[in-house]
Amino acid sequence: MAILLLLAFIFFTVIWIRKTQYEKTPYYIQTKNSWWKVHSDKGLAGKFAAFQCLRTLKGYKRFLFNLYVPKENGETTEADLVLLHESGIYVLESKNYSGWIFGTETQTYWTQTLRSGRGKAKKEQFYNPILQNKGHLKWLQSFLADQTLPFYSCIVFSDHCTLKNITLTSGKHCVVNQSGLLHAVRQNIGKTGPALSPARIDALYTKLYPLTQADAAQKALHIKNIEQKKQSITSCPRCGGKLILRTASTGSRQGKRFIGCSNYPGCRYIQNLADSEDLHRLPSASQETSFRETRSDNVMPSK
Ligand SMILES: [Zn+2]
Repeated sequence: MAILLLLAFIFFTVIWIRKTQYEKTPYYIQTKNSWWKVHSDKGLAGKFAAFQCLRTLKGYKRFLFNLYVPKENGETTEADLVLLHESGIYVLESKNYSGWIFGTETQTYWTQTLRSGRGKAKKEQFYNPILQNKGHLKWLQSFLADQTLPFYSCIVFSDHCTLKNITLTSGKHCVVNQSGLLHAVRQNIGKTGPALSPARIDALYTKLYPLTQADAAQKALHIKNIEQKKQSITSCPRCGGKLILRTASTGSRQGKRFIGCSNYPGCRYIQNLADSEDLHRLPSASQETSFRETRSDNVMPSK
């Protein structure tokens, strides 16, 4: 009995110490997300872990979390993490996924393969995170209105997933597991050298900081806009049927993906994928996957 009490005491002391340390991090000071919340929410845990990986990076730096960046149409897009460092501005998109991940730089959809028991696999499509983060970079650049700023895009997957055949060609993006993040950023620093002075980093921080402090009304509007877009892109504007991801089997677009109506051939509505920047997850005709419900725009129709 005494041993059990001692173990419980040690357990709670360790948690208390970790919680106290957590509350001193810039992550907590900016987001005010409680220790319990961060450790029980997969999405938040991924962002916090990415921040933890970069804390030891040498050189002058400042972090910004959950930035609600204004778009020209009055809506906002949410960037997970921005690192202002001597070598440049790193915009990180965190994906706390498991399973196997397949994708290329230009594909609209990437695939996540999960084992679903008895040797079977379940596949899910999600919007290409490189394209998603490109949107974040675009609106951050437009907000800062300075073409000379060096921006870098980084997609951070959890260590619980395996990145399979992720093909990158342009060299403008990095796609890594969490454990490879620090190395990837260091490599970039080795190539680029210093670009921003501490004073400039502080000035950028001051300008961007208000974007991290969106109030409840702004966050609610952000979610409402996503929900509306999701509605408009998940139901057929002609017949109200469900829209699904299909692959053209014949014709000049053979093998290419498009969005079609589930009432086909009764309804022949199709939609071009190029306009669907915020369409992050769509059920596929062959896989019958379900939408992952989402709080923010990170994964859609999803997260
Ligand atoms: Zn239809």
